[in-house]
Amino acid sequence: MKRVGWTSVVLIAVMIVCQSWGFYGHRRINRMAVFTLPPEMVGFYKRNIEFVTAHAVDPDKRRYASKNEAPRHYIDIDHYAKGGENPFEVMPRYWYDAVEKFTEDTLQAYGIVPWHVARMTNWLTKAFESRNVNRILSTSADIGHYIADAHVPLHTTENYNGQLTNQKGIHGLWESRILELTADEYDYLVGRAEYIDKPIHAIWDVVEESHSYLDSVLLTEKDVTAKIPSDQKYAFETRGKRTVRQYSQQFALAYTNRMGDMVEERMRKAIVMVGSIWFTAWVNAGQPDLDAIGEVDEEQLAREQKEAEDAYQKKEIKGRSHDD
Ligand SMILES: [Zn+2]
Repeated sequence: MKRVGWTSVVLIAVMIVCQSWGFYGHRRINRMAVFTLPPEMVGFYKRNIEFVTAHAVDPDKRRYASKNEAPRHYIDIDHYAKGGENPFEVMPRYWYDAVEKFTEDTLQAYGIVPWHVARMTNWLTKAFESRNVNRILSTSADIGHYIADAHVPLHTTENYNGQLTNQKGIHGLWESRILELTADEYDYLVGRAEYIDKPIHAIWDVVEESHSYLDSVLLTEKDVTAKIPSDQKYAFETRGKRTVRQYSQQFALAYTNRMGDMVEERMRKAIVMVGSIWFTAWVNAGQPDLDAIGEVDEEQLAREQKEAEDAYQKKEIKGRSHDD
């Protein structure tokens, strides 16, 4: 019986710590990105659609195993703005310039998502060049996750869960509750993947756009709070032996209505961007014939992922070429 108790404790911990689109959103974004691809790519990705869907959440799982993982999912860009400065003018877009200005320790402490997406685009190009099917698919799935995270306004701020403005829990409200209520009605016909000349600039543009929505994400919460009786703002839910406070269904519905289509639009943009980065890496690799490469080997993949992670932790994978 004890075992059951612990399982629920762990599950609750995962649900509380998880700061991203939630499993549903990440899987949906990777899955729909497949349909943005050109004819030369779509067959391969359709054959492996269950893989890129299921593995869309690997990066969130790795957060519990690796201390290097967490900063890849966000950037607290407002940390770098002092006295009304525009943080996007303060922060250099290229990794080595940013390291020089702020030190790598500081960048790691406040998140590295844009640089990590740029670096992974190069990894994906290399995977295509070497026709390594395992690496193509695992990197595709991973990069889809980080790109999706970069589209979330609350992934661009130190106030990532409303904890600095007495709005704790807003992260889950934005990314999970709204999706639960509305995602089945979204329009997933998002258009075609496009070649991206400079991925580092494209992903910085995404972060900048996400950040521009932050005020509205937080102010809308305040507005809805003012209109809902205080005893109806939260609901208490029992999970295992714990009671968890979260926004009530009534609040989530009112908030969702006020937000309009922001979440849907961020999701649609994330889908196109994921497809576009896959497409860009494939083009940069010389457009290899994806129908001529083999099938994924999950056992070998697990070994490779561990080796890659070990190498990363030893800082073996580095170099200026990873930045653009
Ligand atoms: Zn994440």
